[in-house]
Amino acid sequence: MTSVDLDGLVREFGPTRAVDDVSVTVADGEFFTLVGPSGCGKTTTLRLVAGFEEPDAGDVRFGGESVAGVPPEDRDVGIVFQSYALFPHMTVGENVAYGLRFRDPPGGVSTEERVTELLELVDLPGMADRDPTALSGGQQQRVALARALAPGPSVLLLDEPMSALDARLRERLRGTVKEIQRELDITTVYVTHDQEEALSISDRVAVMNSGRVEQVGTPEEVYREPASRFVAEFVGDNNVLDGTASPLETKGSSVSVGPASFEVADSATGTVAIGLRPESLSFGSGGNELDVTVGRAEFLGDAYKVYCDWHGTQLLVKTTDAPDPGPATVSFEPSDADVLPE
Ligand code: ATP
Repeated sequence: MTSVDLDGLVREFGPTRAVDDVSVTVADGEFFTLVGPSGCGKTTTLRLVAGFEEPDAGDVRFGGESVAGVPPEDRDVGIVFQSYALFPHMTVGENVAYGLRFRDPPGGVSTEERVTELLELVDLPGMADRDPTALSGGQQQRVALARALAPGPSVLLLDEPMSALDARLRERLRGTVKEIQRELDITTVYVTHDQEEALSISDRVAVMNSGRVEQVGTPEEVYREPASRFVAEFVGDNNVLDGTASPLETKGSSVSVGPASFEVADSATGTVAIGLRPESLSFGSGGNELDVTVGRAEFLGDAYKVYCDWHGTQLLVKTTDAPDPGPATVSFEPSDADVLPE
C-alpha cells in the first residue's frame, strides 16, 4: 500500500499554467478524485503522477519517496484512460496479459492463471478468448481495468474512464470500480468533470479550477461547506447572490441584494456572496420570501429543476411540484443560506 503526495506541482505549456501549485496527499488505500470543469488541469495532474509528464516545479512522492525521473513503467501504477485503448487484433485474455509485459504476475501464479483471476475480478469470467471489439463499451472498459490491475500495482490511476459510456452503463461500472477498489484496498486517483460521479464514488475529492485546487474534502464537506463561490456553483449547483450584510441585534445578519433583503443565520458584515442550494428553496411562504417570475421547468424524474427570475438574477429551484410559469413566491429558512468565503 502506498500514499501519494503531490507537493507544489507546477506544469506549464508555453503561457498556460495547466497545473499551478497543486499540493494534496492521497492516503494509503484512499479513493481520491480530481474534479473540475474542462481544461482545469485534472489530466495534466494525473499525467504528472503517472510519469508521462515531469513537473516544472514540485515533486510527486509514492510512500514518501520521490519518483522524479522514474518512467511510467517503473512507477508501480495501473492506468485506465477514457478510450478503452484495447488492441483489436488480440483476444481479451491477450489484452489483459499485455499488462504483464514489464512484470511477472504477483503471487507466483502463471500469466494464464492471473488473466483468469482478473477477468473474474472484473466480472467477465471465461471471456479470455473473446474478440474485444465484440464487447460492449462497459465490458471493454472492464478489460482495460483488468489489464491495468494485472501486475498488482500499488496505485491505480483512472482518467474519465466512464465518459464514453451511456448513463446506465456508467452507473454499473461505477459500482464495479468502487467494489474492486475496496476489495484490493488500492490507492486510487480518479479524474472526472462530473461532480455527481465524483461525490458518489470518492472517499475525498479535490475540486480544481484554472490549475489550482480550490478545496479538498469528503463529498459531504465540499457539498455542504463549499470553501469558495466556485465550489458552491460547480459542486452544488448553488445559486450565488452578491449582497451587503449587516449584523442583526439578536443573531444572524440582514443581507441586501439589489432592491430586496433577507435574513441569514450566519453573522456577516459588508460585501458578501450568499449560496442558496436549489433544494433548499421551495415555492410558497416561509422564513425569507422572494417574489420571482417562474420560467421553464426541467423534469429530472424524482424532481423538477425550475428556472426563476428574481430582479434579473436567475434562481434555480429543485422541487417535486413545478408551478405554472408566471409570478410566484420562493421561500427559504435563514439557516439554509450560506455566507460563502470569497
Ligand atoms: P479535460 O477535462 O478537457 O481533459 P482537464 O481538466 O483534464 O480538461 P488538462 O487536459 O490538464 O485539463 O489541460 C489543462 C490546460 O493545459 C488546458 O488549457 C490545456 O489546453 C492545456 N494543455 C494540456 N496539455 C497540453 C499540451 N500538451 N500542450 C499545450 N497545452 C496543453
